[in-house]
Amino acid sequence: MVIIMENVVEVFDDLFVVTQDMRPGWYCSVFVVFGEKSIGIVDTGYENTPRDYVFPLLKAKGRSPDEVDLIVNTHRDGDHIRGNDVFKENTGALIVAHSLAAEAIPSMDKTMEDGDVLRLGDRQFKVIHTPGHRPGAVCLLDEDHKVMITGDSVCGEREDLIRMDKGIYIESLKKLLELDVDVMIMSHPFKPAGKNILRGEEIGEMILASIGVAERLSQ
Ligand SMILES: [Zn+2]
Repeated sequence: MVIIMENVVEVFDDLFVVTQDMRPGWYCSVFVVFGEKSIGIVDTGYENTPRDYVFPLLKAKGRSPDEVDLIVNTHRDGDHIRGNDVFKENTGALIVAHSLAAEAIPSMDKTMEDGDVLRLGDRQFKVIHTPGHRPGAVCLLDEDHKVMITGDSVCGEREDLIRMDKGIYIESLKKLLELDVDVMIMSHPFKPAGKNILRGEEIGEMILASIGVAERLSQ
């Protein structure tokens, strides 16, 4: 894991996480996947995120916003979609979100469903529908490299973010526990992990801790 710019972490040579502080100790994330001929983005942060955080990374890598062809929103919340319009103005990218989030994301172009496979850069990501935080929340799983982006679908001790029925949330997390994942990347530094890039055993521990929080709440 290499830090090339402040607020940018290189997880793999083609997969970068850009973080933007929201308040002390808390940030949101944009995921950038560099392919040979195209660039994929997951979540877009706030209105200023593309210009202040993402485009400088593209420039540092000798790439251009024109090359962004696909943007995925993991769910409908502002810190994940408010940069959509600026990306639209500066790229020809298609913006994709789950059908249950479509109404809340006017800038979206196309819906996705559980099981769909999306190409971001040169990687393939399978869409895993994980309602619980939001009805239209998804995780993205790169099965070839065992990497999963979870957005806010695994939200640890943030009880306030389990906005749906606790049983639905627990069901979604149990589905994630079955997957073969080496690297899990969340949008925020949810506790108890306290960081957003998890590896190996940290992954199961975080998902189990999140299930535990929801189970306590539903008692
Ligand atoms: Zn969020």
